[in-house]
Amino acid sequence: MKAVIIGGGLTGLATAYYLGQAKPDWQICVYEQSHRFGGKVQTKRIDGYTVEMGPDSYLARKQDMTQFITDLGLGDKIVANATGQAYIYDQDRLYPIPGGSIVGIPTEFIPFAKSKLISWSGKLRAGLDYFKSPYPKQGDVSIGEFFKYHLGQEMMTKLIEPLLSGIYGGDIYSLSLDAVFPDFHRLEHKAGNLVKGMMQAKQARPVSHRPAKGVFRQVDGGLASIVDAVVAKMPANVRLIKNCQVTQLEYQGDVYRLGLIEKEQVKEVEADTLIITTPPRSYQSWFIKDKAFDAIRGMQQSTCAIAIMSFDADSFDAPIEGTGFVITRTTKTPLTACTYISKKWPKAAAPGKLVFRTFLGKPGDQTVQDHTPEELGQIALRELRKILGFTVNPLWIEVTQLKNSMPQYEVGHCQRIAKVKDHIHSTYPGLYLIGTPYYGVGMPDGVKQARELVAQLSKN
Ligand SMILES: Cc1cc2nc3c(=O)[nH]c(=O)nc-3n(C[C@H](O)[C@H](O)[C@H](O)COP(=O)(O)OP(=O)(O)OC[C@H]3O[C@@H](n4cnc5c(N)ncnc54)[C@H](O)[C@@H]3O)c2cc1C
Repeated sequence: MKAVIIGGGLTGLATAYYLGQAKPDWQICVYEQSHRFGGKVQTKRIDGYTVEMGPDSYLARKQDMTQFITDLGLGDKIVANATGQAYIYDQDRLYPIPGGSIVGIPTEFIPFAKSKLISWSGKLRAGLDYFKSPYPKQGDVSIGEFFKYHLGQEMMTKLIEPLLSGIYGGDIYSLSLDAVFPDFHRLEHKAGNLVKGMMQAKQARPVSHRPAKGVFRQVDGGLASIVDAVVAKMPANVRLIKNCQVTQLEYQGDVYRLGLIEKEQVKEVEADTLIITTPPRSYQSWFIKDKAFDAIRGMQQSTCAIAIMSFDADSFDAPIEGTGFVITRTTKTPLTACTYISKKWPKAAAPGKLVFRTFLGKPGDQTVQDHTPEELGQIALRELRKILGFTVNPLWIEVTQLKNSMPQYEVGHCQRIAKVKDHIHSTYPGLYLIGTPYYGVGMPDGVKQARELVAQLSKN
């Protein structure tokens, strides 16, 4: 049996690693178009710093990722983030995020009542949710509409939107609640409304289950260590091929024919099993005649840039408090958030340094598309100086532009994907689509899909 995996990001590599072990008699090839493996995972090691230019960490409760890292022998390298006060920047002020709020939804009265971020009328409107019934419309709804119904416009703009939209970088009024946060729908139906549901869920968790440390996980040495380890431990029946772009794809008879460009040479290969792990854009030139793939081809992908900069901590007049901030969309700045990574991951920075990771790019704003990486670094620095009130010069700035990098799960996503998958199941034997366009955009979601697919193939 000949299997091809397209894409050498974390999802493709995890699939190859587990499939190679489960099927030692299969010949497996991974084709990666770029000159390196890892896809969006990009760790830079600069003079004693380990900084992530793409994803930064994963959620501890997503066990498939921890299992994968452990399987690679890096279990003892997993570290948790340091915690501290996070802030919201609105118009021209930083406000502490009220204690007890879970993704912006208040579950404790006193910290929420004391917060200066929300006006009294906004707090009253949010509190009224305690007496409201579940969202009236059946079926999927946008995250924005759902939370506006429950908590009101002010809570949406000032708390929920900046916190939730950071994950997808998209427009919260077009993102699907069922695809992105399915638990909220279930919770409100179970408890009668959202705030009650959140409070009950919090109460139901035994004290021992409330995390004593941060909820994010990294590995010492950065996420690239995971990529290096999986490449080094790849089973012998897997070939990893870089600089090789899959340009054409056809299903003919009972095999998949792939057109490749490898080192400027055009080639053709065949596969009985084809696993595609690439982002939606790559389908622009694949399965063109089959309209069912339009659901994937048509997915929007948001754009952002990450600018990381380092400073000598003692050159600041006053200490920088907290672990970072997110910014309300109505505040006039192209920045959306900033994490103080030397505080979140103290081991990632050299001693005595302050390292900031800023994000640029929000729906409708062209700053990231219209500027070079150097310009974006200067824009981020200018905005950060304004927000935190300093004039110090950075030691260095590193920027990555991640254009069209995050698939947007718009309202109706789950139904659209279920339809495509049904079609593939009945029309294309041996074809499997996994990765960010389908069931979760985070690293652990890709690894989970990889593990589930290999478990399914192992039964055959
Ligand atoms: C700004 C940003 C921040 C993020 N932060 C986090 C975070 O903190 N935590 C988290 O869990 N997730 C985060 N994510 C999501 C995370 O990056 C992805 O879930 C993960 O990297 C996806 O891995 P993948 O292998 O599925 O896809 P990718 O990393 O996109 O890999 C796909 C690979 O396919 C290759 N490819 C594409 N087309 C072809 C072709 N035609 N032929 C051959 N190869 C091809 C690409 O070159 C690429 O290497 C973030 C994403 C972004 C954009």
